[in-house]
Amino acid sequence: MSSTILQNALHPIPVAVRGKGINITIIDPETGLERELIDANSGAAVSSVGHGDEEIKEAMRKAVDNLIYTFPIVAGNTASEKLGKFILDQAPGAFASALFTGSGSESVENAMKIMRKYHIENGEPQRVKFICRRQAYHGYTLGTLAISDNNKKVGMDEITLPKEQCPRVSQVYPYRNRKDGETLDQYSARLVQELDDTFKAAGPDTVIGFIAETVTGSTFGCQVPPPGYLDGCRDVCHKYGALFYLDEVMSGCGRMGSFHGWSRYMTGPGPDIQTNGKTLGAGYVTIAAVLIGNRIMDLFKAKKTVIQGAQTYHAHSFNCEVALAVQQKVKRDNLIGNIDTVGKYIGEKLRELQNETPFIGEVRGDGGFWGVEFVKDKATKEPFSPETKFGYKFMTKLFQKGCYSLTLDGTIDGVNGDHTILSPAFTITKEEVDTIVRLMGETLKELESEVE
Ligand code: PLP
Repeated sequence: MSSTILQNALHPIPVAVRGKGINITIIDPETGLERELIDANSGAAVSSVGHGDEEIKEAMRKAVDNLIYTFPIVAGNTASEKLGKFILDQAPGAFASALFTGSGSESVENAMKIMRKYHIENGEPQRVKFICRRQAYHGYTLGTLAISDNNKKVGMDEITLPKEQCPRVSQVYPYRNRKDGETLDQYSARLVQELDDTFKAAGPDTVIGFIAETVTGSTFGCQVPPPGYLDGCRDVCHKYGALFYLDEVMSGCGRMGSFHGWSRYMTGPGPDIQTNGKTLGAGYVTIAAVLIGNRIMDLFKAKKTVIQGAQTYHAHSFNCEVALAVQQKVKRDNLIGNIDTVGKYIGEKLRELQNETPFIGEVRGDGGFWGVEFVKDKATKEPFSPETKFGYKFMTKLFQKGCYSLTLDGTIDGVNGDHTILSPAFTITKEEVDTIVRLMGETLKELESEVE
């Protein structure tokens, strides 16, 4: 595989052989021997119940005995029906239908298609534009790349769809982009106004909708929406007859400490359409979802619209059965409550660490999703130059100490921003947090004598 694709990966990449709880056993690339590694990211913010859960393994065995697969056009299956009901029941009235796919990118593609179809059925076929945010990430397929904005980083700019169809607005990033003296409320209102202005510039009746991650994940580490921002964005969309879409592939299904991330940050109704992935199947199966709200489904029902989407592995029976077992366990054991409580502790410990090191400019996050931005100078917020490779050095050293934390070197509006993300399994304990933060502290201490 090319090093471009794996630019943020450890070199050489270790091989994992087993997993239990928040730990994986790897073959150390240097010694060739097995050793334990704390998986502080739970893969890519995937795990809720942790690795190697015995109950889920048993549910998988049972699912094998029941039904593995049907092609949804030939016959539906009870597993996808039950999973759909379970998901919709978590926020009664918020969504009317659930569609299950094999990956987050596939779900985002489907959501984009459904949004476009809504406007065609509504007699507005001229709506062809998706407004999205700079430095967003929604997947690596062609449509999802068109609404993502980290393409340069992965060298894919040249193969994506025309950007004129996808106008950009600012990412949420108060640490750097809040003006002097601006309150968080004023900052939020300014971003909402920017969205409104972007609709006007694009021609409001040409816009399909606005797409955002509830909490920005992989591109610029855990940007929590400021007060009123998501409600404001929804209202702007609806003012212009467009749809409001939240991508919760990374921040949904409990990651933020509530089943839907948006329910924490919105006072009014949620999105018209949403995508979920990652913790839906918690890494045990490859599954993601599109949740479709009443506004869209009411029209589709009235028009008898069929959503074209007969992909071979839609609503895969085995995957749905296992995802249901995961979700039922998460609910029964109140694991979302646990990650909310322990997540607060993660925030506290990281802020303590911030006071002890010269390198942490900001700690941000919520629930079980925390980002740490590294800077050369806390007072001026000056970032490290890309040549310093601070993030990479941090990640490699931490790995040698027995912990993996996804560390990225994104660039936003021309500013380099090394940062690392903690997104552990929901089962994590305070003692495990102590170990992770201690290892991070030791790593940063050693780096003090190694970077200028
Ligand atoms: N959307 C968001 C917000 C994501 O974080 C990701 C993956 O990281 C995706 C979509 C794409 O999901 P997948 O990698 O399962 O295709």
